[in-house]
Parts: sequence; structure tokens; C-alpha cells
Amino acid sequence: MIKFLDLKAINMQYQDEIERSLLKVFRSGWYLLGNEINEFEKRLSEYISVPHVIGVANGLDALRLIFRAYIELGIMKAGDEVIVPSNTYIASILAISDNDLIPVLCEPSECSLNIDIDKIEALITPKTKAILLVHLYGRVVFSEKIEFLKHKYNLKIVEDNAQAIGAEWKGIKTGSLGDAAGFSFYPGKNLGALGDAGAVTCKDQQLANSIRALANYGSNKKYVNIYQGLNSRLDEIQAAVLNIKLQYLNQENAERRRIAKQYISRIKNSNIVLPVLPKDEKEHVWHIFVIRVANRDALQNYLSENGVQTLIHYPIPVHKQEAYRTWNDFSFPISEAIHCDVLSLPLSPILKENEITKIIDLINEW
Ligand SMILES: *Cc1c(COP(=O)(O)O)cnc(C)c1O
Repeated sequence: MIKFLDLKAINMQYQDEIERSLLKVFRSGWYLLGNEINEFEKRLSEYISVPHVIGVANGLDALRLIFRAYIELGIMKAGDEVIVPSNTYIASILAISDNDLIPVLCEPSECSLNIDIDKIEALITPKTKAILLVHLYGRVVFSEKIEFLKHKYNLKIVEDNAQAIGAEWKGIKTGSLGDAAGFSFYPGKNLGALGDAGAVTCKDQQLANSIRALANYGSNKKYVNIYQGLNSRLDEIQAAVLNIKLQYLNQENAERRRIAKQYISRIKNSNIVLPVLPKDEKEHVWHIFVIRVANRDALQNYLSENGVQTLIHYPIPVHKQEAYRTWNDFSFPISEAIHCDVLSLPLSPILKENEITKIIDLINEW
């Protein structure tokens, strides 16, 4: 069976280094807010070229904390609107609604499956305070038009960078394109921990201070609480693993690009719509490789019967979920079509040549 993602094999590449580091943390007796997290924040800040990094418990918290901090700082308030793509993972939208802000859904572009930048301006109202850009599947979504809209309407640009760590737009890494960004180090992400982990990056010192306090009970000084905060910390064990894996991220992303290019050049089946390569390959880190196919379930069953595991990202659009039942009658035809016909092929830096060829041959024979 070719697994969709063989996490064990991915992490075993670094077995010696990771085990040594975990043992060091265990024996140190210091498990939270110590050397490993300080080192990781420093390294991530250098890697992304962004002044502030705050390690947090997971990607959803990273995004929630950004909006919460904007509210605490008086920059946003309950009832304000945030524009977000309609076909994103639910976490992007939860981060907005959890703060009593209103998610305003915007359809994606058929070409990139990222938010359709040309449809954003029509959705802007006097209540719009931010655009949450999601670099979906690992592909950058950004343009001069975003900067133009930001200045024209005085908006904050927040990035959901859970899927695109390492991607670049004109030499600038995702996570420093906007005002603030949320990262996830969920085990299956391009930079994955051994459990939940996340981070916020941002450019503004005041915002960073506010997020750091909010993530630690609303406190910057022990037992002095300036906000009604939460507990969202990245622990030393996870930070230790991330310190090791961050060193190999570029290498792994390059391997993902190489595999994606093979899929794109060698899959030849007229029933299948392949993703479009960006002009600059650095704009994509291929967190997942998503094809579109009319009878998706048939292809998925066929691949499964032949030993290839695939997944669907995502089967149900957020506006059709029971969690957002008041939106169930909204119509987002492009998103709805995407959720019916997308299929994600295995793509991880440890796929072997014969596995890639087997997947390609099976699809071409279908
Ligand atoms: C994974 C993911 C998140 C949430 O990250 P967690 O660490 O699982 O909370 C948010 N947005 C997107 C687009 C994601 O893929």
C-alpha cells in the first residue's frame, strides 16, 4: 500500500537527531517556555525574515490569537467583517467567528483554487477590517492588488500559512507578506511536530506583545494579568523536534516540487484536471497535490483497490456544515464544485521513484 502520508518514515529520516534532542529535554527537567522554544522562535524569525515569532499550541490558536489581539488593541471589534476564501479548511473560519467577527466568504479562482483576488473588492463594506489570505495546498496567494486594497480601505492582511511554510512571492516568504500570519505544525504539515504545535509571525511589536500575553493567560509578567487570556503554548518537546526539522524544510519542499512536476508532466488522462504550475516554482510548496476529476469517487476506489491511498481536501464546504447552519442556503458554486471533484494524491518527500511511477501509470490506465 502506498500511504497518502507516511509520517513514521518521514520522521525516521531524522531518528538519531530527534531522539537525542527529546532525551535532552526530558533530562533537563524544563518543559515549557525554555531554551528550545526561544531557539525555535529565533530560527523561524530568521527563516521567514519577520521580526516577531510567538510559538503557540496549534494553528487554529495562532489565527484566533491574531484576531483576539486586534480586538484587545482596539483595531477590530465584535461584528466587524473579515474576508476569507469559501473553500478553505474550517479552522480559518473558526478563527474569525470565535472572536465574534463576521467571516465574509469569497469564491476561489478556478485556476489556483486560492481566493479570487478580483472578487474581493466587491465584498468590502465599511465594516471590513481584514482579509484572511489562505495559501491553500501550499500555493501563495498574493499580488500588488492586495497591497492596493489594504491601503485603500485600511485593512489588515492576515495570512493562514498552515499549508505553505517555505513558499515565496517575489523573494518574500509567506508569513511576512501581510501584517500577521498563523502557522500550524500539525504532524502532517510540511513542517510537522510530534503532536500539536503552531506559531504566529508578525511585524508590529505591540501586536506581538499582545499575542504573547494572550497566549499565556493574558500575562507578560507572572501573576500580573492584563487580558482575560488563554493557555496556548508550544512546549519544549515540540520545539526541540521543530528545531531539527526546520533545517531540512527547504530540502523537503524541493523534493515535493520535484514530485509535483513529475505528476504534472507525466499524468496524461483527459478526465483529469491537473493543478497549474505557478510561473515561479518558489510560489508553491505542494503541501498537497490536488487533481480534479468528475467521477472522483470511482477514481479513488480504483486507486485504493490498486494499493494507493488518496484523500479529499475537503469533502464538505464550510457553508454546508452543520456548524454554520445559518449559511447552509448560501450559494458558492465554484467552491461547491471543488468539494465534489477534488482528490489529493500521495505527495511526501519520501515517496520512491517506483511509487511515483506506479501512481502515474495507474491514473494513465484508468
Ligand atoms: C491545518 C490547518 C489549520 C489549523 O492548524 P491546526 O494546527 O490543526 O490547528 C488552519 N488552516 C489551514 C488552512 C490548515 O490546513
